[in-house]
Amino acid sequence: MLELPAKGRPKDEVFTLLERYGEADLPWRDGGTFAYVYTVDAEMEAVIKHAYMRYLTENGLDPTVYPSLLRFEREVVSMAAAHLGGDEHVVGNFTSGGTESCMLAVKAARDRARDLYPHITKPELVMPVTAHAAFHKACAYFDVTPVLVPVDTRTFRVRPDDMEKAVTPNTIMMVASAPQYAHGVIDPIEAIGQIALRRDILFHVDACVGGFILPFFRRLGRPVPPFDFTVPGVTSMSMDFHKYAYAAKGASVILYKTKDIRRYQIFTCAQWTGYTVINNTIQSTKSGGSLAACWALFQYMGQDGYLRIAKRMAEGMDRIMDGIAQIPGLRVLGRPEFVLVAFTADDFSIFPIVDDMKKRGWYVQPQLGFHGSKENIHLSIDQATIDVADRFLTDLSASVQYVRGMPPAEGMDQLAALVRTLTPETFTPEIFGQLMQNAGIEGAALPEGTAGINEILNQVPAELSAKILTEFFNELYVQSSRDDTLVP
Ligand SMILES: *Cc1c(COP(=O)(O)O)cnc(C)c1O
Repeated sequence: MLELPAKGRPKDEVFTLLERYGEADLPWRDGGTFAYVYTVDAEMEAVIKHAYMRYLTENGLDPTVYPSLLRFEREVVSMAAAHLGGDEHVVGNFTSGGTESCMLAVKAARDRARDLYPHITKPELVMPVTAHAAFHKACAYFDVTPVLVPVDTRTFRVRPDDMEKAVTPNTIMMVASAPQYAHGVIDPIEAIGQIALRRDILFHVDACVGGFILPFFRRLGRPVPPFDFTVPGVTSMSMDFHKYAYAAKGASVILYKTKDIRRYQIFTCAQWTGYTVINNTIQSTKSGGSLAACWALFQYMGQDGYLRIAKRMAEGMDRIMDGIAQIPGLRVLGRPEFVLVAFTADDFSIFPIVDDMKKRGWYVQPQLGFHGSKENIHLSIDQATIDVADRFLTDLSASVQYVRGMPPAEGMDQLAALVRTLTPETFTPEIFGQLMQNAGIEGAALPEGTAGINEILNQVPAELSAKILTEFFNELYVQSSRDDTLVP
């Protein structure tokens, strides 16, 4: 077992190790990564790091002793509310990320229903199949039933009528996205807002990924339908800063139309022997770093700075989408309204492209098929990826040609046959061990290629793939003697 080093190491040695551990990580500075990272220039990076380090140690747990953090948060929230068409009644809180923002919206809706509508004993959240997994997580954590609404399989937008049909006396809130992550399209927010008003239910608009840039797209003259607090019926919104606002990770906001709803988000506890806990958010003790860094970046960038970025993003998005549309054999799903693109293929398997592109120096993200959204590859287009767009398109085109001519993956047939006999109910950790053996994956190793595995997961019910993947992570995060050898 790995123990703490018996004797402390010189810091230079520690710094060297930090570099060594990172050697196999997804590179991002060169723009080859179409997910997970949002690249800033050297000046922005300097501002973020300076502010983050300045407030690294200050504790967001208690705003009464850190007036700085309270002020940063009020100002960031106010700027966010103004950006999303809110008035002076809009309130909110800075959170650690989109997941936390979405979870808090669901928590507030549940607790509000408990207070105002005690007859609801089995609360339901009505949301399209394209709503982010964070809402499923919220339902799982807070014991709310997700009611999934299918989307139009041509546009990938939810139909307002279908949303309304899913509403029952147990509905505590409806959710829609502006835009949704998978296909980059915006749900019909205005029409759903009308339903929310008519049925008197809460309506959350998840603008986590695109909400910050969309208002700038509009100013550039691009068509952006109303999606924010200006839309009647919208009662809360989530918006991430650590995505396309380029803040340091750990930065998002949850906003409510009024304080009357936000009240139910707050957790307070005086029923223990220690200090009184009053938490707006899920975390309690938290660094002031990400908040200060976000605030500082807003000051540094200003609206003009973000408008410049948005212009580049809009141009880059058009260029990459046109390029993909011109590659024979590829098909873009829907018509993205933001820098998120999903493309698939109809006469060959799309998943081997992920592995082949990795060999060519690119990271692209596989998405499994679900409810009429065929399995596909997703790109989150970013500043850095735009710089290398031409090279990317050339490589993608070559990759398509190569994968089209490839024989089907060997050795996976047996595995696929085994998986097809499984059900979520009969799946056990022992069966998982057998699966891994058949797939040639040993212990807690990360798989080399992902195509075969994605192929299989794509063919089984979502409940079963969730079980398989849970088991995979339960094995992945265990003590590993393999890792020890990394340390000299
Ligand atoms: C990324 C995302 C989230 C979740 O955000 P995290 O910051 O990853 O927790 C929620 N909704 C949408 C639409 C997203 O794209």
